[in-house]
Amino acid sequence: MPRQGNETSCLFGPVNSRRLGRSLGIDLVKFKTCTLNCVFCECGRTTQLSVERQVFVPTEKVLKELNVFLNGGDTQPPEVLTFSGGGEPTLAANLGEIIAALKTNYPQYKLCLLTNSTLLSDSQVRAEIKPVDIIIPSLNTVSPVVFQKINRPAAGITPEKILSGLLDLRREYTGQLLLEIFIVPEINDTPQELALLREAAALLKPDGVQLNSLDRAGSEDWVQPVSAENMQKIK
Ligand code: SF4
Repeated sequence: MPRQGNETSCLFGPVNSRRLGRSLGIDLVKFKTCTLNCVFCECGRTTQLSVERQVFVPTEKVLKELNVFLNGGDTQPPEVLTFSGGGEPTLAANLGEIIAALKTNYPQYKLCLLTNSTLLSDSQVRAEIKPVDIIIPSLNTVSPVVFQKINRPAAGITPEKILSGLLDLRREYTGQLLLEIFIVPEINDTPQELALLREAAALLKPDGVQLNSLDRAGSEDWVQPVSAENMQKIK
């Protein structure tokens, strides 16, 4: 559910998502502010590569927009409110505050978070996201060389740190955890890479694993989608 830039509202959709049902997107981060600059990003290249958490959209604005939308009498109301968009949602320093407010004001909606997992090593982030019903973290590789090639991280982020944050989350979190793995042909789909990912997934024990591949153009044109046949083999 990628969000396009130049929108003034922090809400997008709702869209009928295959995995979540009817989902209203909440984007708390400035467009293309991320801890990674993935070669497959459907929102384009990251313009602000950062690990610094800050408030991009004031909490009052987010809650006001949600209040107007959710009380607007939509004939097809959303089933789930999803933190996602054109950057990394956990970079929003007011994420926890907004999650808590939504749980109090709108307990009838499920909350979902899509995250690239890079800030899960921060115990504060893990505590903030604990009340979310579904967390979909991504892990595309555990090899440092491949990580640099496809995820191009901000300084200090390593796959080891990501996996350790994910394992801490698994221990502390009681909601639904669905691991997402994005496959880039000939980079992280080699037998060796897949074996390492399988080992990491076995350690993590997520409630499900979702394999993903390029659907729209990525930020680099050399990234290709995985054929249906290969995806089946990888699965
Ligand atoms: S983590 Fe997500 S938003 Fe950030 S660059 Fe990668 S695909 Fe794009």
